[in-house]
Amino acid sequence: MSSSGDNSGENSRESSGKNIYMIRAVEPAKPISFDGAKCTGCNSCVNACPIDLLLPSRSKGETPTVGYPDECWYCGCCVMECAFGAVKLRHPLMNRARWVDKDSLGG
Ligand code: SF4
Ligand code: SF4
Repeated sequence: MSSSGDNSGENSRESSGKNIYMIRAVEPAKPISFDGAKCTGCNSCVNACPIDLLLPSRSKGETPTVGYPDECWYCGCCVMECAFGAVKLRHPLMNRARWVDKDSLGG
C-alpha cells in the first residue's frame, strides 16, 4: 500500500515499505498577554499566580514573562491582581461558551 494519495493530508512518509507517522509541531498556548503601555513591572501578577507560571520582569517597567504557557489554569488571578488592567486573559476556543436566550432562536 502506497502512502501517496489517501494519506496526502497526513504528516507521514514511507520508509522501507512501512508508513511512519510524525506528530505535527504545535505552537505553545498564549493564555495571557500584557499591555506594555499600562504595565509598570510591579510583578504583583507574578506573585498572584498559584502555579508560578509567570516569571518576574527582569528590569523595572518591563512586563513579566509567561514561562510555562501550556500549564495555565485560566483562573484569572493575574488579571484580577493587576491594578492597571495590563493583563488580558485569552481563553482557548473550547472554553469560550456562548449562551443565548432560547427565545431568540425562534421555532
Ligand atoms: S500586575 Fe499588572 S502592572 Fe504589575 S507586572 Fe503584572 S501586568 Fe504589569
Ligand atoms: S490565569 Fe491563573 S494560572 Fe494562568 S497565568 Fe494567570 S494566575 Fe497563572
